[in-house]
Parts: sequence; structure tokens; C-alpha cells
Amino acid sequence: MAKWLKQGAEPEVVKNAAREVRETVEKILADIEQGGDAAVRELAIRFDKVERDDYRLTDKEIQNCLNQLSDKNLADIEFAQKQVRNFAQHQRESMKDIEVETLPGIILGHKNIPVNAAGCYVPGGKYSLLASAHMSVITAKVAGVPRIITCAPPFQGKPAPAIVAAQHMAGADEIYCLGGIQAIGAMAIGTRSIAPVDMLVGPGNAFVAEAKRQMFGRVGIDLFAGPTETLVIADDTVDGELCATDLLGQAEHGPESPAILLTTSEKLALDTIEEVKRLLKILPTAAIASQSWEKFGQVIVAESNEEMVKIANEIASEHVQVMTHDDDYFLKNLRNYGALFLGPRTNVSYGDKVIGTNHTLPTMKAARYTGGLWVGKFLKTCTYQKVLTDEASAMIGEYCSRLCALEGFAGHGEQANIRVRRYGHKDVPY
Ligand code: NAD
Repeated sequence: MAKWLKQGAEPEVVKNAAREVRETVEKILADIEQGGDAAVRELAIRFDKVERDDYRLTDKEIQNCLNQLSDKNLADIEFAQKQVRNFAQHQRESMKDIEVETLPGIILGHKNIPVNAAGCYVPGGKYSLLASAHMSVITAKVAGVPRIITCAPPFQGKPAPAIVAAQHMAGADEIYCLGGIQAIGAMAIGTRSIAPVDMLVGPGNAFVAEAKRQMFGRVGIDLFAGPTETLVIADDTVDGELCATDLLGQAEHGPESPAILLTTSEKLALDTIEEVKRLLKILPTAAIASQSWEKFGQVIVAESNEEMVKIANEIASEHVQVMTHDDDYFLKNLRNYGALFLGPRTNVSYGDKVIGTNHTLPTMKAARYTGGLWVGKFLKTCTYQKVLTDEASAMIGEYCSRLCALEGFAGHGEQANIRVRRYGHKDVPY
């Protein structure tokens, strides 16, 4: 049986926090629905201290942001975007339209049609999370979305230059300096100055994730991508310093980001706890990372790889970093994760920033039913059918007629019967 050397917060704490966020979001979305642009403006001033007549950035403002970055900065962003685009293109190619003859004269097919307009949220409250612009805007672009708009909060009252550069370089059609619930509400509901989108994507804090959840139905959403989570699965092939670094690298995202070590080595568990303490004294972002570690950090010692798989599948973490004797065992057996990082040579930060896989990933156990953002999320797989011959229409019509009778659907039955009479030249007795 596994034992916990460090426990995370009680679920009740999380539930209460979720209730407060839900109520705040509900109220603010209702304000946007009623007040449109004026409400969005009032919220942008209240939460982000940014007061503008129009929250859409002009070409001049975008150029001004680009000018503030060095050539090296721009080249690095370009490199990261190239990796994300390249992998997304491979994924797009795997999404084939199909057309098959399933019975003589009966043709069934599906087409992958991009949504018309996507709203890409780029978080920027605590850090300039420019990588989120590559992940959402480029992926939408590769999927073939015709209109891509993007919102990010200001940094110290002004558009964050690195985020705006990444949004622009990724190919966004409209860039807005708006954050949080007001950004999500404006994109989903629409205002006089912002035409609504069909789909919202991108990560964000608890307010952003909850606002997307509440807008689902009215628009599509990619997934529930809230506060970052990480699970490190390790054995005695690695040391406490490496594990502690990988835990705190994700705990620094925000005060509610769980970071969990799951190991078969009690020595590694104890070393990691010590290393976390040491690193928290020197990490520049320790103020945030220590809050999440204290509240949500866990250290679990399991008896075997099998037990680690069982626990990891129950946790269903957004990120899972595996550093063991047999990483492929975990690739084969883990079922619930947003993204997997195999071996000590890679890590979550590579995935977050540059390697090319998408960093917008499921949190709060959503990994039980979805993977992360990818081109497929922007595509609607729409079916079609054709019946090529009279014989095929009459043959399938007879089955349909009987099945309609069984369900008591007279009108549906008649849709079949009329075709059996016309194309099969016989009466249907059902
Ligand atoms: P953010 O852009 O998500 O949120 C900032 C906005 O929150 C502000 O603009 C403000 O309008 C709003 N806000 C703040 N406090 C509020 C309050 N009390 N009431 C209403 N609105 C409020 O930026 P952030 O806060 O830095 O969070 C980024 C988040 O994104 C982190 O939690 C990080 O873990 C997460 N993330 C998740 C993934 C994923 O794939 N799941 C990937 C990257 C980042």
C-alpha cells in the first residue's frame, strides 16, 4: 500500500474556492451580456487598470511591441512557433476526410470542417505567457480557421510586448488587450466592437477556466485548462534535485498549482522534500511556488510500478513526467494524463515553451476524458451520405420502415415508405 509522506489540501478547500469563483464569473458574464462594450470597459478598468476607447490593438501598437523585442527574442519566438506549426501540420495530415461504400450503392463519408471563428485566450496575469499564443493561434491557423481573434491581459496597464509579438507572428487577425472573464465574455457573447466567435480556446487561471465552462454550449470550448498541475513519477534512477526542480518549475505557475511526486524510492522522496526546501530559498518565484507546494504538494511512496500506474491514473494530472528504469512501461500503461514527458532528458518546460507539442492541457481530472488542444479541436467532423441506386434506397428503406414502426415514429416511417414505393416499386405493410 502506498504511503503519503506529504498530503495535499483537503478537497473541501478546493470545492469552496470553486464555488466562489463560479459565483463571481456568473455575475460578471451577466454584466457583459447586459452592458456590452461599456461593461467590458468597466471590468478592464476594475481588474486590470486598463482604460481605452477601443481594446483592439492598432497596427501601430503592434509594431511598437515588436520594436521593443531584440532580434534574438524574435528569433526565439520564431523557432518555437516553427516547432508548434510543424507538429500541428503532421497532426492535421492525420485527420483524413473519408468516403466509403458500406453497402452496394450506399456511400457514407465525413469531412473535417474548421470552425468559422476562434477566440484564443493568452494568459498574462502573473507572467507573460507568450507560448500560449503559439499553442492556440498557430494551431487554429493550421486547422484552417478563417477568423482568429486573441485576447491577453495587460502587463502593468499596457499590452505585454512579448505576448503581442507572439500573437501577431502566429497570424492572429485581431488582437485585444483584455484579460480574465471580460475577455472570455466579450469573445463568446460579442459586443458592438467585438464580433462573437464560435469557439474559445486557451488556458488561464480559475476565473478564465470557469468563464469558458459557463460559456460552453453558446460557443464550443477546447477543454477545461485551468491552473497547472504536475505529477513526477520517478525511481532511484534520478535524484532529489532533479525531481524538486521539476516540481517547483510547475508549482510557480500559481498558488493553486498541485505538484506531486510519486515514487517507489523512500530515499528519493525524502531527498526531494529536502531539495524543495533548499530551492525555495533561492528560486526567484518562491513566493508563489511555496504557497502551492505547502497547500497542494504531495509526496507519495508506492510499492511497485503497477501501483504507481494505478495512482497516476486516479490523479489524472495535466502533466506527467516519468523518470524510471522502464519509462516505456508507463507509456504503455498510463491512461489518464494531458501530456507525458518520458525520461530525464526532457521535461514539462520543454513542452510548455518550445518543443512543439501543445501546452494547453486538461486539468482538474479532465484528462479522464480528453487530451490537450490540437488541430482536431478546431475541426468539426461532419458526416454525409448518398444512396446511389434505386435498389439500395429500397433495401435500406425496408429496414428503416420496420425500425420506425418499432419506435412508433409514423412520420419517420413514411419518409422510408415513400422511397420503398417509388424506388422499390412495392408497398410497405408496416
Ligand atoms: P490569466 O490571464 O489567466 O488571468 C488574469 C486575469 O484574471 C486578469 O486579467 C483579471 O482580469 C482576472 N482576475 C484576477 N483576479 C480576479 C478576481 N478576483 N476576480 C475576477 N477576475 C480576476 O493569468 P494568471 O492569473 O497569471 O493565470 C494563468 C494561469 O494559466 C495559471 O493558473 C496557469 O497555471 C494556467 N495555465 C494553464 C495551462 C493549461 O494548459 N492548463 C497552461 C498554461 C498556463
